[in-house]
Amino acid sequence: MKLKFANRMSYIKASEIREILKVTEQEDVISFAGGLPAPELFPIDEINQMTQIILKEAGTKALQYTTTEGYSPLRDWIAKRMNERLGTSFDKDNILITHGSQQGLDLSGKVFLDDGDIVLCESPTYLAAISAFKSYGCNFLEIPTDEKGMNMTVLEDVLSNTPKVKLIYVIPTFQNPTGKTWSLERRKKLAELSARYDIPVIEDNPYGELRFEGESLPSIKSFDKVGNILCAGSFSKIFCPGFRIGWIAGDKNIIRKYVLVKQGTDLQCNTIAQMTIAEYLKRYDIDKHIGKIVEVYKKRRDIAMECIERYFPDNIRYTYPQGGLFTWIELPEEISAREILKKCIERKIAFVPGGSFYPVEHKENTLRLNYSNMPEERIIKGLQIIGEVLQARISP
Ligand code: PMP
Repeated sequence: MKLKFANRMSYIKASEIREILKVTEQEDVISFAGGLPAPELFPIDEINQMTQIILKEAGTKALQYTTTEGYSPLRDWIAKRMNERLGTSFDKDNILITHGSQQGLDLSGKVFLDDGDIVLCESPTYLAAISAFKSYGCNFLEIPTDEKGMNMTVLEDVLSNTPKVKLIYVIPTFQNPTGKTWSLERRKKLAELSARYDIPVIEDNPYGELRFEGESLPSIKSFDKVGNILCAGSFSKIFCPGFRIGWIAGDKNIIRKYVLVKQGTDLQCNTIAQMTIAEYLKRYDIDKHIGKIVEVYKKRRDIAMECIERYFPDNIRYTYPQGGLFTWIELPEEISAREILKKCIERKIAFVPGGSFYPVEHKENTLRLNYSNMPEERIIKGLQIIGEVLQARISP
């Protein structure tokens, strides 16, 4: 083939573990690999009812184009919810509806990044954010991250010595992949550093509503005095991911720029999906629905933690997440999670090795486990087998 593709295609590589993980499509495979919500909790009957009501009462509107910004009642609801939960002070004009929070990340790349710019991120970070930003030609610098979030001393040092830093990307609550949550102090400090060095922050928060215990923390945005911080949010984990409805929220002048680039990308998000969610929010109690999700995931988290404690070798480290979908395992340094995965796949168990969550450092002795998507008995069986494979490799 002699076609000349855009330079960006050379930055975008297929993941080699994708092939291995294809086996997860087989029904008898127990997979801790995806980040999928529990499908039995999708509000199917309610969505069915809401769609019928919308089509009957406002069919022409629901099937017509709408504004790029999105459906106003939905934007109103999001602004109010964020103000109540996250300490922000938004109104609907601070909100742009996006195709999942993933589109918010991609548009952020389009708005802020040029070839050779540097993005600072947690180490490790969300894989598809790396892909989204990479396609705009940026490089990454990983900032060391511990139980309380990013190391602010290192961050400040990098900010003061690295002129090409253009963007900071963080997931401060129930992080993907680690399940960790930032402390209040680190949140405040990041807002302060972002203002001092004039670097925008994307605060990605698709899991914040799924808290099993402990106190909710205010967003980094709530400490933003200059308007540098943008928040990505989503209905994927509290409603359903198939609708692909999320949002990006921030200073009105910046959101205006996102609106302009979204016009060139896809004009707008699906009108009927936005109206259906808005109607659901009007007629049902979403907190009750989220309560059900939290109850189920908490049970699964508890079981997963018990199994790791019981079946995994002692010389591993793991996160005890207070919410969200994931736990993160660190094996002794000389052990490759890819090798462990190969052995597990032979026994029909899958997970994601952690190396690809590091844009630069690729620590191969790590892995991510999702516990939201399977009933308890499969979690127990799967973790028992991973435990056996680890025991055999670590203490043969
Ligand atoms: N950000 C993070 C941290 C995620 O884990 C995900 C995927 N679950 C997304 C963004 C994208 O989610 P969605 O586009 O479905 O809102």
